[in-house]
Formats: sequence, structure tokens, C-alpha cells
Amino acid sequence: MVRWACSPGRCGVGLVVLALTTGVGCDQRFGCAGGATRVSGPGPAARGRAPVRLERSPPDAHDQVALGALVRRIEPLHERLGRPSPGDWLWEHDEPGQTFEQYRRASPPPVAGVLYLQPLGALDEAERRMVLLAADYLERFFGLQVEVEDALPLSVVPTEARRTHPSEGGRQLLTSQLMTDILRPRLPEGGAAMLGFTTEDLWPGDGYNFVFGQASLHDRVGIWSIHRAGDPHLGGEAFRTTLRRMLKTAVHEATHMFAAEHCTAYACVMNGSNSLEESDARPLWLCPECLAKVLWVTGQEPAQRYFRLADFARRHQLEREEAFFSRSMEATEPR
Ligand SMILES: [Zn+2]
Ligand SMILES: [Zn+2]
Repeated sequence: MVRWACSPGRCGVGLVVLALTTGVGCDQRFGCAGGATRVSGPGPAARGRAPVRLERSPPDAHDQVALGALVRRIEPLHERLGRPSPGDWLWEHDEPGQTFEQYRRASPPPVAGVLYLQPLGALDEAERRMVLLAADYLERFFGLQVEVEDALPLSVVPTEARRTHPSEGGRQLLTSQLMTDILRPRLPEGGAAMLGFTTEDLWPGDGYNFVFGQASLHDRVGIWSIHRAGDPHLGGEAFRTTLRRMLKTAVHEATHMFAAEHCTAYACVMNGSNSLEESDARPLWLCPECLAKVLWVTGQEPAQRYFRLADFARRHQLEREEAFFSRSMEATEPR
């Protein structure tokens, strides 16, 4: 069964539809790329930055006991989710959540190889900068090499995957078709995942308004948009707000691609959100349960990972995040 995870929306039968943001939802009529024919790998990557050297250890290096101890050490730094209020994601969606143990028992394959970012549509300098910042953050977040591919022109999107928003009037692209027909076939053999990026608005199908992003829980493909995240051309606090929103959606969808479902236990970047306001209130980091999933499936060492994330936050004046990542690094340093 194919399961899609998306930003905003209503969850439907049979599939776990996961969300990050506002407005609308996704449904489960979307097909799967399972039978899609793979083509040879993507074209020459437009990397544009020096790779970060990553320390990795095999996933089985993190046994249950070690991860359980780690969770206990960082738990005091995290907030449990309170009761949802009317309009919140969990007020409208009866989601069970997913513990680390449930995730581990589902046996997601280890994550290795390159995580590809595929821009869709031409990007100006400020938008291009956002992609490179996302690549940098994702690399530090997952301990994977991230490559940014040359942008594909919008002409690759067929007419049936476009529409004009019924009330707002803007152009929108259909997420399911982008993932199955355009993105998934471009994931090279052995690649970790393929995550599309666009400045275009996205929608997940008839009856829905828009989504910020969507991902498959099993096919290692997803897409996210910065269309509603803010203006990347602005500076100062406005830029940092756009940056935080973009990064939250990027890591949320990418974590879905590695088979993690929505978090209902703590304030966490894997919480579903029903609105931009609710999304803005969520942190840019993983809670202990979700962190254990990512460490287990990627084989990362937690203190090194927090060091890299604190460094990113310091470079981009994300003060709250820098303080949190630094405290987390101290709590997870080997004793
Ligand atoms: Zn989601
Ligand atoms: Zn979580």
C-alpha cells in the first residue's frame, strides 16, 4: 500500500496522510510510483558548495538500550504536547502517533547514499540561496551527502498536473503527479531519496486547497514549496522567518520519506499542523522519540549531529535553535 504524507490536510481512509501546514489536505487516491520505470541518474549536479565531512556509523551501532538511555538524557529539554485546541491538527485528526519502537519494528531500510534535491522551475538568486541553505541543513540533519540538481523547467509538468486555484487564481501544480512521474524516476539506484523543491504553489488533488509539501512514506520521494513560506528576497527577521518555515517543511517531508509518521507526543518538527500559525509554533528540531528514529535509520552520532546543527543556527542567527542544539549537544556528549 502506498502511503502519502503531506503538509496540511485531512487524513483519509487507508492511508496515513500527514501534514505540516494549513489550509487543506491530501487524499489517498494518489497512485504510487512503484511501477515507474527508472531512467538513468540525474544530470550533472549543480552542487555549488563544499561538501561537509560526515561522521557515520552503521545503524546497528545504535542498539535499543543505547537509544533508550539517550532519550532519557535529552527528554528534560523537550515539551510534551498539550491537549489540542479547536482548529489544531490533532483536534481534527485522530492520529495515534508512532513510537521509536513501532518505527523500528516496521523495519525501514537503512538510509544511505545521496539525498537529491531537485528544483522544479527556474530560480532567481535569492530562491537559489534558499535551496542551498536547505541542502546544508538537511546534510547536517540526516548526516547524508546532499546534492542539488540542475533545475528542471516547468515545461516538464504536463497540463493535467496544473490548475488555476479556484478562488485565489494562482497557478498550482499537482503533487502526486510531480512525485510519481517527474521526481521518483530521477532517483538513481542507491540514492537515499529524491526531494523536489519549487517556488510554485502545490495542491494534492480535487477538493483541496493547497499543501506546503507532501512525501511518500515508502517510495523515498517527496516535494516541498516555499510559495507560502514568505519572501526570500527580504532581509533580517523576515528572512529568518521564511528560512525557518522552509527548513521545517524540508526536514518534515524528508523525515516522512524515511518512513517516520507524525509525532503526537512532544512539540516536534514532525507534528502535523493545520495552519501556518500552528506550524510556526512548532520547533525546528526532533523530539527524543523522533530523534531516535533518525539516528537509528541513518547511523549518526548524536553529539556530532547537534554540533553541526548548532553551527548552522549560529551562522544564520537562529538564536533559539542555536541555544537548543548547544544544550542538546552537551546532553548527548559521550561520558
Ligand atoms: Zn506530515
Ligand atoms: Zn517527535
